[in-house]
Parts: sequence; structure tokens; C-alpha cells
Amino acid sequence: MGDGSRTKEALLAELAALRRRVTELEAVKREYEWVEEELTKAHYYDPLTGLPSSTLFFNHLSQAVALARRNGRQLAVLFFSLDRLRLINDNLGHQTGDLILREVARRVAACLRESDVLARPGRNEFMILLPETGRAEDVVLVAERIFAALDDPLVVQGQELVVTGNLGVSVYPNDGASAGPLIRHAYAAMCRARDEGCDTYRFYSPRLNERAFSRLMMENSLRIALQREEFFLYYQPQMDVASGRIVGVEALLRWRHPELGPVSPAEFVPIMEDIGLIVPLSEWVLRTACARNRAFQEATATPLRMAVNLSPRQLYQPDLVHIVRRVLEETGLEPHCLELELTEGALARNVTTTTATLGALDNMGVKIAIDDFGMGYSSLSYLRHFPIDKLKIDKTFIDSITTDHNNAAISRTIIALAHSLRLDVIAEGVETEEQLEYLRALGCNEVQGYLISHPVCADDLLRFLAPDTGGGLLPVAERPLDTLDIQS
Ligand code: C2E
Ligand code: MG
Ligand code: MG
Repeated sequence: MGDGSRTKEALLAELAALRRRVTELEAVKREYEWVEEELTKAHYYDPLTGLPSSTLFFNHLSQAVALARRNGRQLAVLFFSLDRLRLINDNLGHQTGDLILREVARRVAACLRESDVLARPGRNEFMILLPETGRAEDVVLVAERIFAALDDPLVVQGQELVVTGNLGVSVYPNDGASAGPLIRHAYAAMCRARDEGCDTYRFYSPRLNERAFSRLMMENSLRIALQREEFFLYYQPQMDVASGRIVGVEALLRWRHPELGPVSPAEFVPIMEDIGLIVPLSEWVLRTACARNRAFQEATATPLRMAVNLSPRQLYQPDLVHIVRRVLEETGLEPHCLELELTEGALARNVTTTTATLGALDNMGVKIAIDDFGMGYSSLSYLRHFPIDKLKIDKTFIDSITTDHNNAAISRTIIALAHSLRLDVIAEGVETEEQLEYLRALGCNEVQGYLISHPVCADDLLRFLAPDTGGGLLPVAERPLDTLDIQS
């Protein structure tokens, strides 16, 4: 019995020892796990800024490239390198260098979208993935934002420090088909930026560089053009086919760049849309065109309709109806003498808003025409939903109407469709007598094109409308009415 109880005690002691050992081992295991976690973190995240490391960035980029490939999209990789960090570390200490890196990371992150990835591979470098931004002009906006964010001096230990850096950009698929080449090429572009001049950015592809820069220059010129009043209007007559009389004109915006000369509205109108300046410019176009129409009608004592192009953005301006009403009141133009030209693409964007806006304009008596008809969306159901008065057959179909069976068939169908919906049809870009005769035979109501007249200035239009007067009947304003006068 005594032996037995000793054995039991020994067993209990052994058990206790084993338990202690298990506890010890568990502690060791926890320590191992912690170390492993820290090592992984250090592998994937930069301890100083908490940003992803180059390994994690590479993973993100590889996934984004796969997605972009599947969706046929572009993406951009930016490589940013801060100047003079070593100098700061040596002279002001590593702590100051660290503070600067953290602040730069914070400011750069604030310029990015949630889906973008900012990483710090080490030292004075940052990498950025823009998975949804591939167009050179959009990347430029991001780059400009980053440089602007770093413009404000950093205050470190009571001292103001100005940080500068250089940035290189590579774009998928142009500059690389996978993560490795894209990063290398963004780095190479950064080196070029550094060599060419401090505190700037460069694209890897010289062609993208040129495009981005010419776009940027164009944007600047357009902003200045608004202030310098470099815009003016030309007018192109529209002829009624049956009577041969001029029943309307289209106002066409013109811009003469001081160095480049005339720039096509097809080129600058989309940029004005992008940079948000189309709204004030279009209001000026509307007011000038309406005032001019009033003057033309008074000078010729003949009714005349004025067509004005509306940009898609303008259609969604909440106060468009109000502006049109005000301009008509101010200029004294009858609403039915104003025709607004919209493209199919603009109409398709938001049916509810468009229905309300067009309904209000229709109630006012303003005419609506669909410009470039046949080039846009295939759904024709909107023709029944919206109060439309006229279709403008796109020039592309008219160009070869007498030689190409398909384009002739399309034009014939558009005219038949319009007439069955009780809409008028005008053909644009009519350049030859043959085209005019063909369109006459199809029953096209009106034509516009070089055959009748090129777009001309207001005085020339008046000479065209009323040759007997020799023009010059226009009330001469202190400053030409057709030059821009908007406060921007
Ligand atoms: P659009 O409204 O379709 O204007 C017709 C274009 O065809 C005009 O080009 C006109 O000059 C040109 N054209 C007219 N007849 C002929 C012809 O017989 N042959 C040829 N080859 N061309 C002809 P433009 O003036 O360069 O305007 C281009 C586009 O810019 C316009 O196309 C319109 O979409 C836009 N645009 C012009 N003015 C304005 C404006 O005030 N506001 C807005 N939002 N867009 C405008
Ligand atoms: Mg037009
Ligand atoms: Mg057109």
C-alpha cells in the first residue's frame, strides 16, 4: 500500500513536471509565432511608414495586370524618388529623415484613390499603382496632384524644409506586359526625369510624354484663351431643299491659338469638357448666337433659325432650362428660332434627366435636333421618348452617298424613319451638286455643307443672306459681339 501511494506521488510529480513543460513549450511556440508574424510583416510592410513593401506591391501589381489583361484596360505604375534624403539624414539626423518620409507618405496617399496602392520599397523611394488609370492625361493629373501636395514646405523641428523629387511613369500594356518590366520602366523613366531636370515627371514612352505635355499645354492655353477672349463664332447656312432658301444657320465655335493658329473645335471642345470650362463657354456661345440671330433677322427682315451645339455636360447642367429661358428673354429671340443640337451619346446617358430637360425646352418652344445621326447608339427607342424635331444625317454617310450602296441605303432609311416619325431631316457635309440631287430625290428637307457655304463670320453671313445690302447692316457694338466676354 505504502509502495502504491509512493508510486502515485511520483506519478503526480511527473504529471506536474510534464504540465510545466507543456506550458513552457506553449510559451516558446507563442514566441515563435510572434517572431514569424513580425518577420512576415517586415517582409510585406515597411516598418517606418506601414506601407506595403516591394514584395506586396509586386503581388498587387501582378494581380492588377491580370485583371487589366482580362478586361482590356490600361493601368499605370509610378516610381517616385525623393531628393536629398541622404543629405538630410547626414546633417539633421535619421529621425528627421524618418519624419520626412512619413509625412511624404501621408501627403502622397492623400492624392490617391482607395483602389490605388502606395508602397515603400525602401530608402527614399515610393511606388504607386493606379489600377484604374491608364490614359496619359489622367496620369498627369495624379502626378501634378502629388507635386502640388509636396509644394508646401514641411516643418520639422521648427525648420521649414522643401522636399523635391522625381517621378517616372510606365503604362500597361504599352510599357510592359507584366509587373517586373513595368516597375523597371517606371524606374528608368524616373531616372530620366532626374537627369533632365529636378522635381518633375516623365513617361517611359516618349510618345506618351509628348501627348501628356501637349495636352497639358493645350489645357493651359485654353484657360488663358478664356481670359484673353480668343474664342469667336462662325455661322454656316442651312438651305431648304425644296425652295432653295436659307432657313437656318449653325453657330460653330472657333479658337485661334496665338501660336498654333486655328484649332478645331473637335479637338478643344472635349478638353474644355474635361477641365470643366465648357459650361461658361457654352453659355457665351448661346447668348452670342441668339443675339446675332436677332440682329440677322432685323437686318434682313426674314425669319431665321439658329442652331447651337450643346455639349453632353451641358445637357446635365441643372440650370440649363433656366439659362436658355434667360438668354431668350435677354436677347428677345423667339424660342422657335433657336434649335439645340445634341448627339445620340449625350441623350443616352441619363434618360430621366434628359426627358425632364428636353420636355421643358419643348414646352418653351425651342427646337431639338440630333447631330451626327447614325454614328451613335443603336437604340432608336429614344426617338419616341424625347420631343425631337429633327435628325442631322452625319457627314460620313453623305460623303459617299452617290458611290457607296451601304451609305446610300443608310441615308434613305434615316430619311424614311424620320418622316414616319414626323421629324425633319437635314444632311450635313454636302459638298457636290450630285449629293444635293440625290438627297432631293430621297426627300431630304434641308442641307448644310460647303456646296452652300463654308462657315463664315457674322458680316460675311449677312452679305450671303442679303447680298443687296452689301452687308454692314449689323449694329456695330463697342466691342465685337462674337468675341468672348465672360468672367472666369
Ligand atoms: P458638328 O456640329 O457636326 O458641325 C459640323 C462640322 O462639319 C463643322 O466642323 C463644320 O465646319 C463641318 N462642315 C460643314 N460642312 C462641311 C462640308 O461640306 N465638308 C466638310 N468637310 N466639313 C463640313 P467644325 O466647325 O470643325 O466643328 C466640329 C465639331 O465641334 C462640331 O460638329 C461640334 O460637334 C463641335 N462644336 C462646334 N462648335 C461647338 C459649340 O459651340 N459647342 C459645342 N459643344 N460643340 C461645338
Ligand atoms: Mg452640330
Ligand atoms: Mg454634325
